[in-house]
Amino acid sequence: MSKLRFQALNQALNRKPVFVDERGKRSDVFGENVFDENTMRQYLTKDARNGVLDAIDTGKKIDRKIADQISSSMKEWALQKGVTHYTHWFQPLTGGTAEKHDAFFETIGNGMAIEKFGGNELVQQEPDASSFPNGGIRNTFEARGYTAWDPTSPAFIYGTTLCIPTVFVSYTGEALDYKTPLLRALQAVDKASVDVCKYFDKNIKKVTASLGWEQEYFLIDKALAASRPDITLTGRTLLGHIPAKGQQLDDHYFGSIPGRALDFMRDLETECMLLGIPVKTRHNEVAPNQFELAPIYEESNLAVDHNSLLMDVMGKVGSRHNFKVLMHEKPFAGVNGSGKHNNWSLSTNTGVNLLAPSKTPMSNLQFLTFFINTIKAVYDHEELLRAAIASASNDHRLGANEAPPAIISVFIGQQLTKVLAELENVTSGKLSPEEKTDLKLNVVGKIPHILLDNTDRNRTSPFAFTGNKFEFRAVGSTANCANPMTVLNTIVAKQLKEFKIEVDGLIASKGLKKDEAIFNVLREYIKASKNILFEGNGYGAEWEIEAEKRGLSNNKKTPEALKVKVSEKAIALYEEMGVMNKREVEARYEIEVEEYTSRIQIESRVLGDIAGNHVVPVAIRYQNTIIENVAGLKTIFGDDFKVHAAEQIKLITKISEHIAVIHSKVDEMIGARKVANAIEDSEEKAAAYCNVVLPFFDEIRYHCDKLEIMVDDELWPLTKYRELLFTR
Ligand code: ADP
Ligand code: MG
Repeated sequence: MSKLRFQALNQALNRKPVFVDERGKRSDVFGENVFDENTMRQYLTKDARNGVLDAIDTGKKIDRKIADQISSSMKEWALQKGVTHYTHWFQPLTGGTAEKHDAFFETIGNGMAIEKFGGNELVQQEPDASSFPNGGIRNTFEARGYTAWDPTSPAFIYGTTLCIPTVFVSYTGEALDYKTPLLRALQAVDKASVDVCKYFDKNIKKVTASLGWEQEYFLIDKALAASRPDITLTGRTLLGHIPAKGQQLDDHYFGSIPGRALDFMRDLETECMLLGIPVKTRHNEVAPNQFELAPIYEESNLAVDHNSLLMDVMGKVGSRHNFKVLMHEKPFAGVNGSGKHNNWSLSTNTGVNLLAPSKTPMSNLQFLTFFINTIKAVYDHEELLRAAIASASNDHRLGANEAPPAIISVFIGQQLTKVLAELENVTSGKLSPEEKTDLKLNVVGKIPHILLDNTDRNRTSPFAFTGNKFEFRAVGSTANCANPMTVLNTIVAKQLKEFKIEVDGLIASKGLKKDEAIFNVLREYIKASKNILFEGNGYGAEWEIEAEKRGLSNNKKTPEALKVKVSEKAIALYEEMGVMNKREVEARYEIEVEEYTSRIQIESRVLGDIAGNHVVPVAIRYQNTIIENVAGLKTIFGDDFKVHAAEQIKLITKISEHIAVIHSKVDEMIGARKVANAIEDSEEKAAAYCNVVLPFFDEIRYHCDKLEIMVDDELWPLTKYRELLFTR
């Protein structure tokens, strides 16, 4: 074993557990470090508190005087908790989170100093942010970007820093982050939903989109991860032979959680509690050393912030427990990757989940309205939804028999399929009294409160109805949920807006009663969007053929998938719903395309480096020992040596063959990279990386992995899959 590999394993195996005491009621510590309603009640005057609550409920601006009061109370609260710094916390288009800490500390002359945090500092900041991706929105002469307080997501303390969730916009007001378009999309879906709800209940004033994410990840010992240049630089392994035992026995899934991992989880969950992240579920996932964590769902903007915060906190807590947390969608070939299911629903200020079947025919008609409109929205914009989850890393997972394919379809279960089939036969125009009664009693009235087949749900569907919510399962584990949530809420908003126009139109032009008009429009939607419904095996090859016949898109790789983001249809949609303007859409597209190229470029360099500097030299060293052996056999046996050295000679030849292919393929890959790098157009460049550079990875890997199982284990420099995946 190479020295590095040996030391790493030794360290990993001798870790002392970091004991974490988990006893006690979690509700006692929940939200302790959050400036939430409870804290506000203690620290804010009534006016100030109402100012914040109004801003949350109605989006009303908080005036400067109130902001001053709030900031001074926040400071008081924070100082009491030992906080020294504050930061505007935001989510730039790198996908992660960003922060720049400023001390409260201020000098006031004569050698004196105070702690200061005014309304100005709370409301707006101008970070020197010229290095964040902006897709050309900020020219250097207007290189300013502003962060502005988002009162809908409460401030929190992490470590000794007060973090204020903010949006990040350019000098000209364009979004430079993930949060801004999300907030706009949530506003759009709120308005469109409330308008439609008015058909059913005049008391509904606000509709909130909820999100419950499920985060999958791997835990790998820090020393083992550090011994692999590919994990260190790309977050995944670029080579490594599949171990004799992988996940075939399914013995990890829901198994007892290994001690070290459990300690990590306890610690992480304690941090989450303090930060107000309502984590609830923890368990082993399918692959060895793979786990999942899920919270109770929350309002989408807060849920997105919490997921971004969690990913950051996970890394920090992981480090404390000597783990590297791998968030990558496919850290190991041949082993299940990680996703992040996004559970989504809409709920009213009156406490009704619009996507849950209910007890009365009228409220079930409301449910069906939202249910069918969502299906129609997904059908009309399936390609955009696919684009929302596209990334270089998620490409490895989609369609790889472990995650939904790149084809978007909707699973609704048998019972609802039946309901839709009945609704499809509703008479056009006015309904007879008998038909109305029949619909009320036997169709809408009979939707069971608990849907049977949602217990045996179809795990292969990318977008599944699971009883009282839709579950978008194709989202990648590294994703910022804001991206898919912005798209989903925007398309549903647009669809509901259209629905309202059509229903009102039928009432006005044909004199239909409200529910007649609703039935009529829903019927047409069911007919129009049928092709998106699929109950079968989404992993099967037959589905690809069938989906093509149905005219569904199947954009397998990121560069082709992303293109639809800048289509006329998409830009018109975003502009109409007030989510993004053309410049913002195009800038984002540019950033994502470039990010794709960079990722593949980095991986390609790392792969070339490992193959050339690690694998080949070791293979040669091993080959030399065999050559020595053969030479020795010759001195003993003379001309007869060939009988005794036959296998060795074969091995020498094979090693030479693999080395030769690796060398020539790495050279070719470097050549392809040079050609790609010379391409000016970013879209063409990404396509070149995808179609010309990337295919070399598998070929190079194949030969390196062959060498891994030939070369003496004592010499092999890279920590092996079995060590990465089974060291506990
Ligand atoms: P699983 O999909 O693993 O079987 P569940 O269906 O119990 O698990 O829930 C998964 C996630 O869905 C959790 O984060 C939960 O909070 C969230 N969730 C449950 N109900 C809703 C809802 N109405 N809207 C949004 N998310 C929800
Ligand atoms: Mg799930």
